[in-house]
Amino acid sequence: MNPNLKLARPEILTLQPYVYAAWDHRYERMHANENPWRATGDNSTLGLNVYPESPAEALHARLAELYGVDIKQVLAGRGSDEGIDLLIRSFCRAGNDSVVISPPTFGFYRVAAEVQGASVIEVPLIRGDGIRSVNGFALDAEKVLAACNNNANVKLVFLCSPGNPPGTALDAEAMLSLCKQLNGRALVVVDEAYIEFTGRPSFTTVLAQHPNLVILRTLSKAYALAGARCGTTIADADIISVIARVIPPYAIPTSTVESVLAATAPEQRPRIQQQIQTLIAERGKLSEQLKQCKLIRHVFPSDANFILVECVDADAVFNAAKSVGLVVRDQRKQPQCGNCLRITVGTPEQNARLVKGILDAKQSGNAA
Ligand SMILES: *Cc1c(COP(=O)(O)O)cnc(C)c1O
Repeated sequence: MNPNLKLARPEILTLQPYVYAAWDHRYERMHANENPWRATGDNSTLGLNVYPESPAEALHARLAELYGVDIKQVLAGRGSDEGIDLLIRSFCRAGNDSVVISPPTFGFYRVAAEVQGASVIEVPLIRGDGIRSVNGFALDAEKVLAACNNNANVKLVFLCSPGNPPGTALDAEAMLSLCKQLNGRALVVVDEAYIEFTGRPSFTTVLAQHPNLVILRTLSKAYALAGARCGTTIADADIISVIARVIPPYAIPTSTVESVLAATAPEQRPRIQQQIQTLIAERGKLSEQLKQCKLIRHVFPSDANFILVECVDADAVFNAAKSVGLVVRDQRKQPQCGNCLRITVGTPEQNARLVKGILDAKQSGNAA
């Protein structure tokens, strides 16, 4: 048994999970109070009038194959956001337990923790700007470990790699060392929402050696399926069986299952890979062009499909984007991101339009 199971909330470990309307395909369905006829415009294969398969076997089989793990090691959710929520609800006792995050980072870890009544311990990333050989933001593994040593009730450590908004991947050795040292004490959750845009291997490749490692993957970015809402939590089968108790019945809609199965079919993969390569090439081009803009002071390196920039005048850059019909993300409220904006890599036409807009812009008078 996985020694990290004891970290789960005791109520969840003893919970009697919801019993699904089991479906033996040899019979017609008169057991789930569904409508026997399809709705107008229902073009799905299964029929939207019936409940989806639950758990979604076909979807889970595809995701396991796609990510190179066992079907017992995956749980699909409505985006990896649902995985974050399930982990926190399954492991954190309200009012008692905590999670560690390393800002600047993805905002939903904190929101999900607060909804559950878990406290949030912040261990900021180290901003290097070339100092200490860190180009961009780096994990402060020693301080994360110290935070866990000082707080016995830390259940989850969220590491976002590549980071959102930093854009860069965290040091793999530092993350693995945290996994090792926290085994039996806390789960290490590596959010790999952007891993496909790096040349690096996913942590799925080291899952077997780390029973407290959880990996979050999503189809929202590299697979162009943000609207389908499908993310995957990947972990040791014992951990997956715990969070699977908490996900609501029939969680994944039929339309999601069918669009994911179609869009991730093996024959689609060369095109997906090609599109990822196009985005990476565009990222390089856009980074270089942004470096030529006087209103931008620093362009952070990126392993993702976005670029974090530190502006001389963030208002002017933000408004310049708007003036050419584009919206970028304001990151000025993130710690250590004072004058920063996050720019998603778009089509070549959008990227060129953005750069032209910024080059043509005047300073706002709010230059920092
Ligand atoms: C986009 C994003 C997610 C959420 O992805 P969904 O699968 O769409 O819920 C998770 N983590 C990070 C860091 C992200 O940027």
